[in-house]
Amino acid sequence: MTKDELRTSSEQLENLASGIRRCVACRLHESRRHAVPGEGPASAGIVLLGEGPGGKEDATGRPFVGPAGRYLDKLLENQGLTRKRLFITNCVKCRPPENRTPRRDELKTCTSLWLERQLELISPKLIVLLGQVAARQMLGDTATLSDWHGKRVSHNGRNYFVTYHPAAALRFDWVADTIRADFDVLGKLLARLADLP
Ligand code: SF4
Repeated sequence: MTKDELRTSSEQLENLASGIRRCVACRLHESRRHAVPGEGPASAGIVLLGEGPGGKEDATGRPFVGPAGRYLDKLLENQGLTRKRLFITNCVKCRPPENRTPRRDELKTCTSLWLERQLELISPKLIVLLGQVAARQMLGDTATLSDWHGKRVSHNGRNYFVTYHPAAALRFDWVADTIRADFDVLGKLLARLADLP
């Protein structure tokens, strides 16, 4: 990407973020305090994709800033990564009430209106799917974490890596062990990122 192209993509990404902050396309806008568009450079080779904002994210408008976000930062740090190289976002950009799971129509509306456009602009080499909701949204209803975690999956011309959501690792020791092992695999994959199609 040339400097001019990068500047244009960054501006377009910011325009999308402005649109997300004003969006009223699904019922989730009714209870949000802040929409959470996501953060990171337009040149990011990797996108981390979660389910939706939680309480801290809703309060601040920033992605993964609560306990799960701090846990995610440690997982990244163990692989020599910082957020500066990544784009971090969610399938839905507004917090579902009581932290419920986003509904199918909300996911469909938000991903088609916003997420797909963000991904087209960034065109990442790899999209890391954090948790079952993100995995099913991007890979289809047959995606199960127990079978697919820790693996790279090619789907519709994109490269994905599936793992658990960091929030689940805070609740269950076995998920914490699994997600650490998955991130070790991810670290090795990222070292070969330039070789991915
Ligand atoms: S969740 Fe997405 S589609 Fe729904 S109001 Fe928020 S930004 Fe718009």
